[in-house]
Amino acid sequence: MSRQLHIALLPAIAHGHMIPMLDMAMLFTSRGLKTTIIATPAFAGPIKGARESGHDIGLSIINFPPKGSSLPDNLVSLDQMTTPDLIPKFLEALSLLQEPVEQLLQELSPDCIVSDTFLPWTADSAAKFGIPRLVFHGWSCFAQCGSEQMHIHKPYKNVSSDSEPFVVPNLPHELTFVRTQVPQFLLEETRAMSLPKLREQMRESDGRSYGVVFNSFYELESAYADHYKKVLGRKGWHIGPLLLCNETGAKEKAVRGKESSIDEHECLAWLDSKTLNSVVYVCFGSIASFTPAQLHETAVGLEASGQDFIWVVRKGKNEGENEDWMPQGYEDRIKGRGLIIRGWAPQVMILDHPAIGSFVTHCGWNSTLEGICAGVPMVTWPIFADQFYNEKLVTEVLRTGVCVGSKKWQRVASEGVPREAVTKAVRRVMAGEEALGIRNRAKYYKEMARKAVEEGGSSYNSLNAFVDELSICRSPLKKQDVN
Ligand code: UDP
Repeated sequence: MSRQLHIALLPAIAHGHMIPMLDMAMLFTSRGLKTTIIATPAFAGPIKGARESGHDIGLSIINFPPKGSSLPDNLVSLDQMTTPDLIPKFLEALSLLQEPVEQLLQELSPDCIVSDTFLPWTADSAAKFGIPRLVFHGWSCFAQCGSEQMHIHKPYKNVSSDSEPFVVPNLPHELTFVRTQVPQFLLEETRAMSLPKLREQMRESDGRSYGVVFNSFYELESAYADHYKKVLGRKGWHIGPLLLCNETGAKEKAVRGKESSIDEHECLAWLDSKTLNSVVYVCFGSIASFTPAQLHETAVGLEASGQDFIWVVRKGKNEGENEDWMPQGYEDRIKGRGLIIRGWAPQVMILDHPAIGSFVTHCGWNSTLEGICAGVPMVTWPIFADQFYNEKLVTEVLRTGVCVGSKKWQRVASEGVPREAVTKAVRRVMAGEEALGIRNRAKYYKEMARKAVEEGGSSYNSLNAFVDELSICRSPLKKQDVN
């Protein structure tokens, strides 16, 4: 029998990237591959938890911030980079990981690396060791194709105002955007700035990597999976949704990424007291934050919708600590019908509960996929990153959600969504004929997601093809003695 294929996984230092990488590691080991995650201490907890539950995953720790970094020692993950001056320091710290990672690769001697797109230097590391590097973006193929065509054609340069719509050329669907939805780093294009420079390095190193693994499934975005291969000429494997790929117990479902800020039994008891499809779940991921004014509008809009809701408010610089944004007497008025979770919610557990009737989401890819897997209609509220593309997928291609009307790419949600828009969008997905159609389509994709990961399903087969290809290409490439 041939030696077990050994894959080293290198996630970025952010919860939205680490969570699916851990799911990926569990999937790989369940299919007979040897897997080692290289992680920082702040993200090691969930990996140790998975190992204790019987997943045979290797774990190698590297320090973060690394030696030579100008980041304060207590800043250990992306969500803590709350002021603009910290971003270049964070990016510099990521690049300083190259040396310690290469030392580990020397010891581990893997056959291949799956590394996050935010670690572009891993393409050089893989070349040094003569092994293939696979990229993990953490976002959809749809978003990848959209951003690639946006970058190539720059259609936002052909409009005369921020509100004039333009179509991104050369995509399978006619997707219309306005200039304010385009990422700032594309509009500014100053290569000296840290983010545009990193984006350029990411594109360049992605281009010379072996291929991409997508946390998605073919049936969800087939036209884009084909576009990626045939039009952009790249290799890609759809092997998800990764969250459905592993047998997970109730505890693992409740604790993903971090310990919850609410007792999961209390949360379940609250949900159990509600009727089918009656609760709106509102959460904006692990990084995005809201100004007090936008939180206030959201609070009033949710209350006016008349629906029961769970709302996750992050504890951070802008939110949670000082609650002046909360309307007077709010918590008394919503008692019994509105549950505010301050901090981290057991999101997948909540979404899977039959009482959940819709999901107000920032459209981070993990959250979008979790909403799809739960079969719930969505209210899309993109803020930055790839989220405006994911909104298009949900509202125009899958038609499993409606937009709240967020039109501005911004690091902190600070303007643009009035209370009336929140109320209206929530009501649209919760009741009426339109909502019924949306709910039926959402259930259809939930079913498709499950089929994709079953034995013989598209993602199951795609992983087989991925492993076969890596097994063929491993031996001649590998350089055993790199100094
Ligand atoms: N998440 C969670 N509880 C929270 C907030 C987020 O479990 O209170 C999880 C969520 O389920 C998802 C991830 O954190 O898996 C967030 O990733 P996503 O891509 O949606 O957004 P990001 O945080 O990267 O913007």
